[in-house]
Amino acid sequence: MTDPSAIAANLGTVRAHIAAAARKAGRDPAEITLIAVSKTHPKDAVLAAMAAGQTVFGENRVQEAEEKFPLPGAKLHLIGGLQTNKAAQAVRLADSIDSLDRVKLADAIEHAAQAEGRLPELLVQVNIGDEPQKSGVPTAEADAFIRAMRARFKEKLTGLMCIPPVEVDPLPYFKRLAAMADEHGLAVRSMGMSADYEAAIAAGATHIRVGTAIFGAREAPV
Ligand SMILES: *Cc1c(COP(=O)(O)O)cnc(C)c1O
Repeated sequence: MTDPSAIAANLGTVRAHIAAAARKAGRDPAEITLIAVSKTHPKDAVLAAMAAGQTVFGENRVQEAEEKFPLPGAKLHLIGGLQTNKAAQAVRLADSIDSLDRVKLADAIEHAAQAEGRLPELLVQVNIGDEPQKSGVPTAEADAFIRAMRARFKEKLTGLMCIPPVEVDPLPYFKRLAAMADEHGLAVRSMGMSADYEAAIAAGATHIRVGTAIFGAREAPV
């Protein structure tokens, strides 16, 4: 059940925390884009967030995203691991694909972009903790991969995304991703979720991806 007033109140709280974290870090809150992660929540929840002024959304699965988007006035980031056989749908639907992490996926995206006549913005996902179960390019390969993707996609490659290891201090991982983005002259650093977005803002996040703190708990983990 969607409770629009709860979503509006949660958005207000998250926005206030973003502003406070930005001020504490000596940053302008306007530098930080809140991606509202609506995965597992119904389209009504997205519409409730839009009614409360939210315009940027994140989804993990292409098929689920297609049930809610496109929506006039909404920007969609695809933030989940992407299979090459979903690249065409992703290219058609997304404003930004934030999980580019291997050459085969780049090939599929490029091929789809030529067929569709549109190319979303792209982020390289870095497996910043080099965890075997996580997607993302391994840190040892990141520099070469980012350079190659930059050469291929030019200004459409806008930045980097990461999900740090859980149950340890994420700050050093966030700082490492920000430093990588700096080295490559990339503006976008998508890092920080409901539990750790304030630390991500301290480390220089330009985009934070917040689901639970806006829409409430998910029934099943995705
Ligand atoms: C689900 C998800 C989020 C949001 O997580 P919350 O803890 O609910 O804020 C952010 N980023 C990615 C990649 C996700 O899959």
